[in-house]
Amino acid sequence: MTSSKLFHNPLNTLWSVLRTRGVRLVIYALVVAALFPSSRFILLVTILLAIGSIWWTEYRSNRSHKFFYLLGFVLFVLAGYVVTFVNVKNVDQLRSGMSPWGDGIYQVKDGKYIGESQGYRGPIKVQIKVKDHRVTSLETLEYPDLISVQDNEVASFKKHLLENGRLFIPEDTEMLRGATDTLTGYVNAIQDALSKGIPDFPRYDWFSNFFLNWFIGQSPNQVTLNALAILFAVFMVFEYTFQSMLTPGTGRSINCYNCASCVGVCPIKEVEGVQMPMGLVLLTRLGNYERVMELSKYCVGCGRCAAKCPIGNSGPMVISAAFQAAREKKRSAHTGNERETA
Ligand code: SF4
Ligand code: SF4
Repeated sequence: MTSSKLFHNPLNTLWSVLRTRGVRLVIYALVVAALFPSSRFILLVTILLAIGSIWWTEYRSNRSHKFFYLLGFVLFVLAGYVVTFVNVKNVDQLRSGMSPWGDGIYQVKDGKYIGESQGYRGPIKVQIKVKDHRVTSLETLEYPDLISVQDNEVASFKKHLLENGRLFIPEDTEMLRGATDTLTGYVNAIQDALSKGIPDFPRYDWFSNFFLNWFIGQSPNQVTLNALAILFAVFMVFEYTFQSMLTPGTGRSINCYNCASCVGVCPIKEVEGVQMPMGLVLLTRLGNYERVMELSKYCVGCGRCAAKCPIGNSGPMVISAAFQAAREKKRSAHTGNERETA
């Protein structure tokens, strides 16, 4: 994509970029990450898979080295996880016996401290004041959970904390949506603030902090996973429709469930390690139309697969779609114009 094309015809350029399934996956992942702060890890994996599939295709077609840069990045992330895991384990061991909970308040020096932690919808930030080994004030500086969680639990916890003057273990919360996560985040933020008042409190090194904040994030909870499953189904329906608009005849490839009924009736069965025509359908799903065109010469067009597939896929259908997609790509590269969509 050249910048002149982008400025002269932004809509066509956007349409053209959206043709790549990897790009669309990244957009879906960004939407999910915006909805759920605890899904950062899922976002990272999705982006890596999407870029990996595009660059792997480029490597196979023209031996581009970009795929190996990505591989290097993945190895860096894996090494980062190992280093962070070891550091977190060691620091947590050192921290036992230095906790600011309960009587641990006697280790905390007088002063004002700010602490942060992750709530249900984002970071929770608090400021506490300690005087004569008692918490004398507690101010909430950031609290995005307020939009989705009733704050009865937090308000009651705050009242008891100020009465006791120290951090205590809260009782079981009611099963309000997100209330448990919110209260846990709130308590952790207070613990973080109090620990800053303990001299020589062990801390994670900068590298582990970087990894925890930017790569791992908060682990997805049950609510997030359920919502992700629902969103996945919605995205699949949307993707089916969208793909059919972009390249007619290919949308249904998403629904192939590898039953291999088509392979059973195909007289070719397997060529160059690809099962026919199921492999063609799966290559279409990945947007690898070049490979579909390469393998199309083996299809004799008998049409048996079309009669057998419960979804309505067939070898000739995806082959014809692949050639049409290639023609469109060539045409738009020459003229900068896109075809009318269905
Ligand atoms: S139409 Fe092609 S892919 Fe389908 S069964 Fe016949 S030879 Fe196989
Ligand atoms: S018969 Fe249809 S659903 Fe089954 S593997 Fe072939 S293309 Fe996929």
